[in-house]
Amino acid sequence: MGEWVGREAGVSREMRVAVIGCGVVGAAIAYELSQVSGLDVIVLDQRPPAQGATRAALGVLMGVISHKVKGRNWRLRQASMQRYETLIPELEERTARVIPFNRQGILSLCFTLDELPKWEKLVGIRRTQGWLLEIWTPQQAEAHCPHLNIEQVTAAIYSPQDRQVDPTALTLALVSAAQQNGVAFQFDSQVIGFESKSDQSVLPLCRNLQTSKGPVSVDWVVVSAGLGSTELIAAVEPPVEIGPVLGQALQLKLDAPLGSLDFQPVVNGADIHLVPLGRGGYWIGATVEFPPETMVKSLADLKPDDERLADLLKGAIAYCPALAKATLVKKWSGLRPRPQRQPAPIISPLASYRNVILATGHYRNGVLLAPATAQAVRQAIT
Ligand SMILES: Cc1cc2nc3c(=O)[nH]c(=O)nc-3n(C[C@H](O)[C@H](O)[C@H](O)COP(=O)(O)OP(=O)(O)OC[C@H]3O[C@@H](n4cnc5c(N)ncnc54)[C@H](O)[C@@H]3O)c2cc1C
Repeated sequence: MGEWVGREAGVSREMRVAVIGCGVVGAAIAYELSQVSGLDVIVLDQRPPAQGATRAALGVLMGVISHKVKGRNWRLRQASMQRYETLIPELEERTARVIPFNRQGILSLCFTLDELPKWEKLVGIRRTQGWLLEIWTPQQAEAHCPHLNIEQVTAAIYSPQDRQVDPTALTLALVSAAQQNGVAFQFDSQVIGFESKSDQSVLPLCRNLQTSKGPVSVDWVVVSAGLGSTELIAAVEPPVEIGPVLGQALQLKLDAPLGSLDFQPVVNGADIHLVPLGRGGYWIGATVEFPPETMVKSLADLKPDDERLADLLKGAIAYCPALAKATLVKKWSGLRPRPQRQPAPIISPLASYRNVILATGHYRNGVLLAPATAQAVRQAIT
C-alpha cells in the first residue's frame, strides 16, 4: 500500500491505526497490520498484554472437529487453521521465543451411539473440504492412549490436523514481533471514549481517542477490547452488548506423562479438555457458566467455586483415572466475551462511525479465530 493522504489537505503521511485491547485478538491484529506499509499502528491496553480472557484460555483450536461446516464461521476457522501452520514457526524465528504448539491433534470421546451418524456425516464433509477426521473404535482409542478408561466410550473422533497453542506465549510473541515491525504499545492506558467530527451529511469520523494518559489521534480504530468493548461503545445505537461466560480450569502435575510419550494429543470427553503440557503437566478445563449465576463484570468479583472445580476434575478422572493421583498446581478462572443476540465473533464496522471496526466477542474460540480476525481487519482497513 502506498502513502495515505492525511486529513489535512495536501499532507502526505502514514495512516494511524489504534488497536484497543492487547489480548490474543488485539495482538494478532497488531502483528498483521505491522506488515502493511503506510500504517502507523498503536496498541492501547489498560493492563499488560494477555491479562483478560486470553490469560485463562486453554488454547485448544477446534477447527476440523467443530460442527461448523459452512458460512462465515467455518471460513474463519479454516483461514485460522491454515495461518497457524505458518504463523507459529514465523513468530518463533522472528522473536527467538518458544511457543508451545501441540501438533498431535484432538481426540474426542463419544459416550453414546446416537452421536455417531453426525460424526460420520462430518467425516464425509471434511473429506470433500480436504481435511482429515477419523472415527476410532474404543479399542483403537485405548491402543493409542492406554491411559484412557474406555468402559463407557462408544467411539473416538481423532482430528490430526487440529492444534493447541499456549495463548499467553502466543500473545507475547505477537507483541514482540509487532514491536520489531514498528508497532507502538501503550500499556496501563485505558481508553475512555471517542472524540468525533461530523460534517452532518455522513457518519462521523473518530478523530481522537480519549485515554487515561491523554488524547491519541487516529485515522482508524479497531476495538478488540473483549468484555471491555461494551462499555467503550455504550453510546452506540443499536448497542453492541458482550456478556461474560465464566470458565474455570485447573493445572495438575503427575510424576510422568500419561500414555505414550510420542502421542500426546488433547483429549476431550464430555466437553472437558485434557491438555498435555509436557513433563507430566496437564490443564483441565473449562467450565462453561452462564449468567445470571455468574453475573459478574470483572474477575475481581469472582471467587473460585470449589464445587464446580471438583466436578470438573471428577469428569476428567472418569475418562482418565490416573489423574486421581495428580497434584494440584493451580486453579484459575476467566470470563469469555460472548455477544448478546448475535453470533460470535463480531467483526464489522461500528454502525455509528465511519472509521471504527469491531473485532471482538470471540466467546469460546478467540485463540482459534485470532489469525483470521486479524486478516479480516487488515482487509477492511486496506
Ligand atoms: C477458561 C477459558 C478457556 C478458554 N479456552 C479457549 C480455547 O481452548 N480455545 C479458544 O480459542 N478460546 C478459548 N477461550 C476463549 C478465549 O480466551 C477468548 O475468546 C479470547 O481470549 C478473547 O480474546 P480478546 O483478545 O478478544 O479478549 P481479552 O483477552 O479479554 O483481551 C481484551 C483486552 O482489552 C483490554 N481492554 C478492555 N477494555 C479496555 C479499555 N477501555 N481500554 C484499554 N484496554 C481495554 C483488556 O485489558 C484486555 O487486555 C477460553 C476462555 C476461557 C475463559
